Amino acid sequence: KDAREIRGHAGGSMPLLVMKFGGTSVADLARIENAAKKVQKEVERGYDVIVIVSAMSGETNKLVGYVEGTSKLYDAREYDAVVASGENVTAGLMALRLQEMGIPARSWQGWQVPIQTTAQHGSARFVDIPRANIDAKFKEGFKVAVVAGFQGVSPEGRITTLGRGGSDTTAVAFAAAFGAERCDIYTDVDGVYTTDPRVSSKARKLEKIAFEEMLELASLGAKVLQTRSVELAMRYKVRLRVLSSFEDTDENSGTLVCDEEEIMESKVVSGVAFSREEAKITLFTIEDRPGVASAIFGPLADAGVNVDMIVQNISEKDYDDAHPGAVTDMTFSCPINQVERAKKAMEDAKAAGKIGYDELIVDTDVAKVSVVGIGMRSHAGVAAKMFNALAAEGINIKVISTSEIKISVLIDRKYMELAVQALHDAFDLDKA
Ligand code: ASP
Ligand code: MG
Repeated sequence: KDAREIRGHAGGSMPLLVMKFGGTSVADLARIENAAKKVQKEVERGYDVIVIVSAMSGETNKLVGYVEGTSKLYDAREYDAVVASGENVTAGLMALRLQEMGIPARSWQGWQVPIQTTAQHGSARFVDIPRANIDAKFKEGFKVAVVAGFQGVSPEGRITTLGRGGSDTTAVAFAAAFGAERCDIYTDVDGVYTTDPRVSSKARKLEKIAFEEMLELASLGAKVLQTRSVELAMRYKVRLRVLSSFEDTDENSGTLVCDEEEIMESKVVSGVAFSREEAKITLFTIEDRPGVASAIFGPLADAGVNVDMIVQNISEKDYDDAHPGAVTDMTFSCPINQVERAKKAMEDAKAAGKIGYDELIVDTDVAKVSVVGIGMRSHAGVAAKMFNALAAEGINIKVISTSEIKISVLIDRKYMELAVQALHDAFDLDKA
């Protein structure tokens, strides 16, 4: 079911579009005017439009700085009151600019809609977006509702924010709630690429990409779309389009993030993702008995360590049942900035007698490279092809992990660019 079937069509008589403009797209008055012209074009085409705006670029950082400069252990409710204000400015200015162009428009702060969220200040989640107030204005003849992104109101009536980059999620939530035909995310890049163009000059802009692939490629798309917005779009089947606000665009511009059913012929691999921020931790000589993995990963989870890849080596016991007390090694990866936390969790567990190991070794000179594609579900040999391409470049693989639509390897960081380029070539990603 698409968003429209779930929530019914918009209150006005016109089809509805959600258009979201990121910080660089509303960075000054000229850019707000440029964005307003894109809205005008859609209104002239016959759409009612909900515009979601971010704060002017740099503004939210500045506001966060004000809060931190005032109070070290700040009250999160006041943090939200301050940092939500950046979006209020751009929403008002956008409405004014549209009015100047003769388009009936007004701004909406979160509490006026009211965008109902949980009370988790700084990382609130949507509870409901009642349509009545905005629908009533569309019925009165307003053509555009300009909504401040990133914010809402808690059950206690306090201003909340959704977490950095949250305006994307506001946009998708409105598209779902109002049954929008599409949710256009205007930003400073012209779409989603097969890999980062700064790493491979052969990177190609994708016309379409499936929601699941977009989630897996988050390391590439992180700056383009907040992960939560893609999760929400996937759940409500909101068609998302990523496109540039600095170019002339039409209905075929950018990259469409959509349900896989809309992608007729997908390649086996759609993109190559990578992350430099990985570390590898190995615990040497742990006991090989039931409960050991749980004794290791339980404390890591409690310490908030996001473990990604895991390998447990084979032990003597696997060869020979006559060695009941055999030992093995355990290796896992986690974000590099969580290494200290992970080390402490392991040392504490060892000191408490919960686990035993001879040595803990940290390798921070690693990178993760992944190939992603929904076509993998129905094709064999993707892993072989990937390992082959890496072997041909003499790149050693340290850890491997797979999911239904992704294969990831951990390698020496100095080979990361080379690996990305080799995989991009091996899977012919430069060709449509
Ligand atoms: N202005 C907020 C931020 O920078 C929200 C957004 O732009 O998406 O995180
Ligand atoms: Mg953003």
